[in-house]
Amino acid sequence: MENKTKVGWNFDNSYARLPEVFFSNTEPTSVRSPKLIILNDSLAASLGLDVETLKSEEGVAVQAGNQLPEGAMPLAQAYAGHQFGHFTMLGDGRAVLLGEQITSSGERFDIQLKGSGRTPYSRGGDGRATVGPMLREYIISEAMHGLGIPTTRSLAVVSTGEPVMREKELPGAVLTRVAASHIRFGTFQYVAKWGSVEELKTLADYTIERHYPDIKDDGNRYLTLLQQVVQRKAMLIAKWQQVGFIHGVMNTDNMTLSGETIDYGPCAFMDTYDPETVFSSIDRQGRYAFGNQPKIAAWNLARFAEALLALIHEDQDEAVTLAQNEISRFADHFRIHWLTGMRAKLGIFHEEEQDEQLIENLLQLMDKYHADYTNTFLALTFSKQEGELFASEEFADWQKRWHARRERQQESKDASIDLMKQSNPAVIPRNHRVEEALAAAVEHEDYSVMNQLLAVLANPYAHSDEQAMYSTLPESTTQPYQTFCGT
Ligand code: AMP
Ligand code: MG
Repeated sequence: MENKTKVGWNFDNSYARLPEVFFSNTEPTSVRSPKLIILNDSLAASLGLDVETLKSEEGVAVQAGNQLPEGAMPLAQAYAGHQFGHFTMLGDGRAVLLGEQITSSGERFDIQLKGSGRTPYSRGGDGRATVGPMLREYIISEAMHGLGIPTTRSLAVVSTGEPVMREKELPGAVLTRVAASHIRFGTFQYVAKWGSVEELKTLADYTIERHYPDIKDDGNRYLTLLQQVVQRKAMLIAKWQQVGFIHGVMNTDNMTLSGETIDYGPCAFMDTYDPETVFSSIDRQGRYAFGNQPKIAAWNLARFAEALLALIHEDQDEAVTLAQNEISRFADHFRIHWLTGMRAKLGIFHEEEQDEQLIENLLQLMDKYHADYTNTFLALTFSKQEGELFASEEFADWQKRWHARRERQQESKDASIDLMKQSNPAVIPRNHRVEEALAAAVEHEDYSVMNQLLAVLANPYAHSDEQAMYSTLPESTTQPYQTFCGT
């Protein structure tokens, strides 16, 4: 492409061409002495960016927000959202969208700097981010990508050389986030509340063009949009449940229209299986507990549907009926995706009615015996069954049923084991491993622990020797693991 710069930036700015209510033109704030901590070489290459130039002073200056890349039209996006059930005006309080990188194959990705200073939507915040949480987002988002779960990605983290005041002074950082887009349920909620119906239509058409181009010519394309978003969310949440991922802050502003996972604040992976698991320090009621995630997704979809009502039908009662009908399908879509994934985790290829019971019974046993979620499936995959759960009579009974179930399928035992290997990760970003990597990085500027962790997380279904040590559990502590928002 003709516009390409030396590093390979090839921006379009379609969001900046939307009506003004959608954003505020905002430049990133310069920082004192930017230093590249980590760069995602393979992601850079897939975006058509030159890794060496990104590492140069000029490349780092861009990733710190000190210099604008050619073709950028920086802006902060406006959005609203239900936070823990309460509707509020939000917006990018500490992020700017530089533009949309168009790859050589014509794909479009938002390039956003997070932690790049105050914006008109910062409210009381300082617009800043710190090294620990930005590296945490880097690690977990890349782990999600490795697990095959749709997600925003992390291109780089740069330290700013400036202190950021939190409960104590912490080193500042800027993360370069890459996303299919940053359109959220909350973007629709914002326009529905404060924009015109015409602007809402513009947003819906823009979203369809960008993420659901196939439905462009549908009769009632806004209702079809809702239907498609319901399906994508059902698939996404099923994938979360299969790997034990707890998002932690499923507010409607943290739900994308693209279907990617976004906002890695208080998220964490569950060790011991317990549907009530909550890590977030502020989630005192357990609203976003592991087992609640599907229900919350449906609740959030209802809020998204409300924002769309004006476009669905001119008779608002009819619009509500149509929208409710779509929302009510979420549970079934979710169940189908979840069952398919869970069957694969147990080496089962096809559907039988009793499968759900078999899966539920295993989960009940894991819960009862406080078994580790990921490792239980690994133990079943590799027939390495140690510990209380596997010693129990109930498990022996369950195993008989499971074996009989696999006997009833035509596929060979080897094929079944292969399916399990592809469906049960050898490694997830366990909290104690992530903390260990972050402590080395933040306290000692030693990035080797993080780089090793990232290397095993890149291909979690490899089941390699070096991954084996990452399945060890944390030493038991009396202090439950806690995560924090807005860090
Ligand atoms: P989050 O919990 O990350 O989804 O953030 C919720 C809202 O707070 C979003 O509008 C963020 O942009 C904003 N926000 C979070 N941290 C900061 C900060 N340090 N400065 C300004 N705004 C922030
Ligand atoms: Mg957010």
